[in-house]
Amino acid sequence: MTRLDDTRPDAREFLKLMCGDAWPEWRAAFTTDGTDGPTGIAPVCPDPDHERGDGDLWACCPEPSVEAESNALAEYLVELLNADRPGGAA
Ligand SMILES: [Zn+2]
Repeated sequence: MTRLDDTRPDAREFLKLMCGDAWPEWRAAFTTDGTDGPTGIAPVCPDPDHERGDGDLWACCPEPSVEAESNALAEYLVELLNADRPGGAA
């Protein structure tokens, strides 16, 4: 078993509690006001009125949002986490 496999179950349990989905799809999100691009990540919002390409965080959005301090790092983390979802392609 790899270290990634070791860490996955507790993280999945936490995400299930936080957003109701153990395997959420992630998106880059504006976790800090005034940045040119999103510098954080959050689960994709399931609200039908929240457009998929809108990186803002509203009351409708599931937690957690995580600050990554960088647009490049946020985009990378989104790709990593989405690749780790069932059926995700690395
Ligand atoms: Zn939302």
